Amino acid sequence: MISVDEALERILSYVSVLEPEEKPVLDALGQVLAEEIVAPFSIPPLDNTAMDGYAVQAASTAGASPSSPVELQVVGELAAGYIFEGEVTPGTAVRIMTGAAIPQGADAVVPFEETDEAAHEAPTAARRIQERVRVLKEVRRGANVRRAGEDIREGERVLAAGAVLRPAEIGVLASIGRASVRVIRRPVVAVLSTGDELVEVGEPLPPGRIYDSNVYSLASLVQRYGGIPKVLGIARDTVEALTAKIRQGLDADMLLTSAGVSRGDYDVVKDVLAREGEIDFWTVAMKPGKPLAFGCFHTSGGRRIPHVGLPGNPVSSMVSFELFVRPAMLKMMGKRHWGRPILRAIARERIVNRGEPRRLFNRCVVTEEDGRYYVSLTGPQGSGILSSMVAANALTVIPEGVEVVEAGEEIEVMMLDWSHGEEWGTDRAIS
Ligand code: AMP
Ligand code: MG
Repeated sequence: MISVDEALERILSYVSVLEPEEKPVLDALGQVLAEEIVAPFSIPPLDNTAMDGYAVQAASTAGASPSSPVELQVVGELAAGYIFEGEVTPGTAVRIMTGAAIPQGADAVVPFEETDEAAHEAPTAARRIQERVRVLKEVRRGANVRRAGEDIREGERVLAAGAVLRPAEIGVLASIGRASVRVIRRPVVAVLSTGDELVEVGEPLPPGRIYDSNVYSLASLVQRYGGIPKVLGIARDTVEALTAKIRQGLDADMLLTSAGVSRGDYDVVKDVLAREGEIDFWTVAMKPGKPLAFGCFHTSGGRRIPHVGLPGNPVSSMVSFELFVRPAMLKMMGKRHWGRPILRAIARERIVNRGEPRRLFNRCVVTEEDGRYYVSLTGPQGSGILSSMVAANALTVIPEGVEVVEAGEEIEVMMLDWSHGEEWGTDRAIS
């Protein structure tokens, strides 16, 4: 039996960053940039107005006030997206809309609010633009002007290779005209359930059988963290059936199986792994999730596919995924931070971690009250009780050596989610 930390280290040492691919920017959300992005031009490209108003020479407004307005001649009108062909000279103004380029000669913009333009509405056929405008307040040079390059300067590095593309990065890429971008590709993760008792959803359920829920929760986890699930379905508990199904998954970047790794007579995953590949380890000092096989399969093409043999119990397989598969996927995607946020929270109840020394990942609900975090368990903690995952937003992280945590003591919790109980479809969430 090895520790959680050692298991994670060994799994991570088997996986490496995947190759880059070129993608339309809108499809690259959440992926890691595989090139450096340099601005081909400045943004904004030209000085432009931050307000609707009149572009003027600031000097023309010297001394203007409501009691002694300065009258200027309006020589044109300009909407965003157009260039004014003429020039603003002393004593003249151009009526101008937010985003329009500052006309030649102008160095400031007087907002409508500081003029006598009564209704600040676009001129209609009935209401032509006024030929003269009275300015009620002196403006400084540069007032209400957005400078060319104030956002991004031409030649500047806008995004570094390794950046994770969030909506803001996607927007920045579009603002410099990029239609596609080089990113690390997403891992394809094959997901396979094993067990004679399993039935595919949509089929009738004979007595003694259960529906295969693991393929659904695991494929959803793959998708949630940015991978592409390849669903292989259910393999029966024979070496032949399992080997045939596993071969279908050997074009993936990683293979996940669930069940068949404990000590039961029909637990064939280890046998197949030993025959077709190599086993690195098969038990981890954690609860839930002690039986966890890790190794790799060899393909005919000479590739090694990492294989995580997750436990069959639905909670154990999800918790083991969170602890081991998620970091491996993030590493393959080129991300550099694999950890979950860990908080310190005050236990609302007594938590027991007796038996052989194992790290305890109980399902729990973390809430905040007066600036402090509190943690309660979601109820019964059996590793077959999948509804405990529905009710949880976090896992306790109680160290191997600690047998009892008393109510009121502080423990570490690993956040899975920041949402609140009302969103989870269960009334068990917060007691
Ligand atoms: P095993 O590791 O094969 O002994 O399975 C442990 C427990 O997990 C058993 O109660 C199985 O019925 C259950 N189990 C295994 N695979 C699945 C699955 N795909 N979906 C739901 N429960 C499962
Ligand atoms: Mg089984």
